[in-house]
Amino acid sequence: MDYLWAPWRIEYIRRDKSEEEKCIFCQKPSEDDDEENLIVYRGKYTFVLMNLFPYNNGHLMIAPYRHTSDFLSLTDDENREMTKLTQVSLRVLETCLSPQGYNIGLNLGSVSGAGIADHLHQHIVPRWLGDTNFMPIIGHTKVMIDGLKETWKELHDGFIRIQDTGNSD
Ligand SMILES: [Zn+2]
Repeated sequence: MDYLWAPWRIEYIRRDKSEEEKCIFCQKPSEDDDEENLIVYRGKYTFVLMNLFPYNNGHLMIAPYRHTSDFLSLTDDENREMTKLTQVSLRVLETCLSPQGYNIGLNLGSVSGAGIADHLHQHIVPRWLGDTNFMPIIGHTKVMIDGLKETWKELHDGFIRIQDTGNSD
């Protein structure tokens, strides 16, 4: 796998770690501003949100509402919905951003590179040919945030459309 150079992630790395003691995967869904929190879809057991420090445009994460780091502890319902929402996410991304490929996966434990190891989450990173060269060009923080909000709206609407056509189940 090519590593994406994502210079804005330095802000994430430098951030005050005490802020992060609050688990974002518990905090964000407990609030009711999905746009601000970049939550694009809420399922029954799991939810989908955009990564605030993305490796690429449309970088999504799917997490259970339940605070757990243990993949083996996922219930059948959580497991099924996470897989289902992975499929739905790919459909939505396909419609909105037309990626040419994806990296999908879980980092379990901090040694694996998980930024937040205490609450498991599955990453979906859309890939385009040449994206390693393209991303640094728009990698300015201000541009990133505006871009994130635009993408949020597109993806959020995409999830609603898929619900409407009954393609989600
Ligand atoms: Zn949590």
